[in-house]
Amino acid sequence: MHHVYLHVPFCRRRCSYCDFSIAVRKRIPAQEYVDAVLRELALVRPAKESGLDTLYLGGGTPSLLPPDALKTLLTSLRDAFHVTPSRDDVEVTLEANPEDVTPESAEQWRRAGVNRVSLGAQSFDARVLQWMHRSHDAARIAAAVRALRGAGIDNISLDLIFALPAELSRDWSRDLDLACSLLPAHLSLYGLTVEERTPLARWISRGAATAADDERYADEYLLAHARLAACGYRFYEVSNAARDGRCSRHNSAYWSGCAYLGLGPAAHSFDGRARRWNTPAWDAYRRALAAGRAPVESEEVLTPEQRELERVYLSLRTDAGVSLSAYPANRLTAWVAAGWARIARGHVRLTPEGWLRLDSLVRDLTGAPATS
Ligand code: SF4
Repeated sequence: MHHVYLHVPFCRRRCSYCDFSIAVRKRIPAQEYVDAVLRELALVRPAKESGLDTLYLGGGTPSLLPPDALKTLLTSLRDAFHVTPSRDDVEVTLEANPEDVTPESAEQWRRAGVNRVSLGAQSFDARVLQWMHRSHDAARIAAAVRALRGAGIDNISLDLIFALPAELSRDWSRDLDLACSLLPAHLSLYGLTVEERTPLARWISRGAATAADDERYADEYLLAHARLAACGYRFYEVSNAARDGRCSRHNSAYWSGCAYLGLGPAAHSFDGRARRWNTPAWDAYRRALAAGRAPVESEEVLTPEQRELERVYLSLRTDAGVSLSAYPANRLTAWVAAGWARIARGHVRLTPEGWLRLDSLVRDLTGAPATS
């Protein structure tokens, strides 16, 4: 197992659009969390396996962990995978909220082994950030980037959300320009989705907000492609763009169908054949481990058909594309004629217009039924 995901479930408050399994806490139970994760690690300890390619701390808000807790976790994980302290080619990503990044925290993270930070910027518009219930203001994003670079972490990714309700009058073009002006190595762009049981869903149901329509979603998505390409970024996946080849190695492993180990509440693992996932609630996770039980909620073994469907979906969502020889030529050339795909070096790769139709193109190719 060479890729590890560690889920840190804590947040200070819930963002207006978020339905993730999180634990909202004023005080982060760092010691209890570290104890629980180390117990889980002992249960799944990869005795014979060695080596670690990537380690990703996601959440929740991993940047809320105190630096000493972070250091204990990273050291224990490296030990468990027999990674010598001198090896510095492990990609170690920390998701951080801009308000948690200071010159001191950035320095401590780097010393603990973090070499890549994914910043939840979302927008540079104070009004929009407030609407999202984010705790940072726009100035904090640039300050966070400066602090990270000052500490020697220059592999920085920014998350942005597009397709916001029209009544916010969000200037997406301005946000893209401001993001590019910070020259992050990587950008992740997510279209806002309305999830049940979120403040956003309640606002929409009582008419206080309106979800973006498909046309504006497409316009903003295509604008991002054009703007980022002009700034030297290459989209290597439907939502992710990098410059200077600085793709996320961790997420690329997911999209290549590699095995990975997930630790922490709600974390998923995949061994190449079966997928299993942990109980999502922090208290249930902690109690299971305190009682010596694995915190696994369930698992599924993929059928050959499911694996093939997943392989096609993952290939088409990235710029790897699918092999031209594996599918009927007339179908793929129809995609090219429609402007949804390009053919190069024996592979069919989706264009931005194609990525907007990803689900229906996967169904077209595999005959899979539509999901509701
Ligand atoms: S910080 Fe992230 S995980 Fe936490 S509430 Fe906001 S969107 Fe959800």
